[in-house]
Amino acid sequence: MDATTLSPQPSALVVGAGPVGALTALGLWQQGWQVTLLEKEALPTQNLPSSYDNRQLALTPQSVEWLTQTLKLTDLTAKLTPITHIHTSSKGHLGSMLMTASQQGVPALGYTIAQRALGEVIFAHLKQTEIQFITGVQLDSLTQSNEQVVLTGSVTDDPVPQKWQADHLFAADGAHSWIRNQLAISSETRHYSHQLMTCIGTLSEPHQQGAVERFTPSGPTAMLPLADPYQVKLVYCYDLAEIDHVTRMDHDALVERVNAQLGKALPQVAAVSEVTHYPLVEVKPERIQSGRVLLMGNAAHTQHPVAGQGLNLGIRDVQAVVAWSQHADEQAWHEMADVRLKDHRHIMRATHGLVTLFSHPQALIRGFASAGLTLLNVMTPLKKRITRMAMGY
Ligand SMILES: Cc1cc2nc3c(=O)[nH]c(=O)nc-3n(C[C@H](O)[C@H](O)[C@H](O)COP(=O)(O)OP(=O)(O)OC[C@H]3O[C@@H](n4cnc5c(N)ncnc54)[C@H](O)[C@@H]3O)c2cc1C
Repeated sequence: MDATTLSPQPSALVVGAGPVGALTALGLWQQGWQVTLLEKEALPTQNLPSSYDNRQLALTPQSVEWLTQTLKLTDLTAKLTPITHIHTSSKGHLGSMLMTASQQGVPALGYTIAQRALGEVIFAHLKQTEIQFITGVQLDSLTQSNEQVVLTGSVTDDPVPQKWQADHLFAADGAHSWIRNQLAISSETRHYSHQLMTCIGTLSEPHQQGAVERFTPSGPTAMLPLADPYQVKLVYCYDLAEIDHVTRMDHDALVERVNAQLGKALPQVAAVSEVTHYPLVEVKPERIQSGRVLLMGNAAHTQHPVAGQGLNLGIRDVQAVVAWSQHADEQAWHEMADVRLKDHRHIMRATHGLVTLFSHPQALIRGFASAGLTLLNVMTPLKKRITRMAMGY
């Protein structure tokens, strides 16, 4: 496979219309590719796939810069809430760290946006393209040669068997990727001993664009500022042994529970709404490329959302594919897959390390980790480097 074997107008099949698949389709189309986007869910007009739910995302400045400047999603800006400072601490220990945008000389350390609002922006742009968007797709087989990738399947309410073929296939079909299974790519799955509850919280005082990350033995509790000066995205992790109890708690009991995790020194929650519970799992495939197929987004790296890196990492996958698509030669294809896999491993190692260190069963180890936060707080160059990394640079 090299540039000369590509059709005059290269073609792509993108599987999965979650944020990573939809952005990949858009990016490739903007580079002049002929794109077919295949989505499993049968969607009535105007509807988004259910992966665009009410979860609130933290996007890094690097992701936002690329989405607005390179992909030209300029209407995204109006939907973003800036995060100007992040306070990190550990329950039961004195250590803490404060990162601020002013220390970095930037307007924001990150931005929050609802996954649904992000979807509305992406789909408004998709509608203005000639991308062939097919929903209600049931895939049956995947084959590939040196020149092409072929998928067969069917579409809801249509008895005629379908065949789709293209120069390359980009698989963004989520954590339980059908494409990954068809390629017999094995993956390591880690089930965490805690589960996550997320909701909108109303604070008793304004958040002042500040985010909070509090580590506890049952996992992290976090707050991210939303557009309303009193509202935050609240994330609370609890032990799996408590699942029946916590999922049945009324809102008052949840407020009490979350405030107890935060402690009196941090902003207190007055009310919660829109509560959703998510199981926590990490999925790490042994490789992400096979012939002309590349795994992207959650299909390539599903991770604990504690560090808010899942979609940001997926957006870096899209950036790499769009950059590669301008020349699309074989050596660069393999190099791109290697670089992406290393980035996935690096971020997943850091994320898992963060979860295990601060929720370690031994109080002494948690204490060392917290003392490390205080130390980091005064070690300006290292703190700056870590902050830049969290910002996606
Ligand atoms: C509570 C929570 C909070 C989070 N917070 C953050 C955050 O702050 N920052 C951040 O960066 N990330 C965050 N994440 C992670 C982020 O939401 C995911 O990384 C992101 O949604 C992954 O997008 P995706 O497009 O790869 O996969 P998905 O969103 O899972 O989309 C996959 C799509 O593929 C479709 N599909 C599946 N199988 C097939 C098939 N066989 N054929 C066709 N289509 C198929 C599905 O229907 C779906 O539309 C969070 C996650 C959770 C759970």
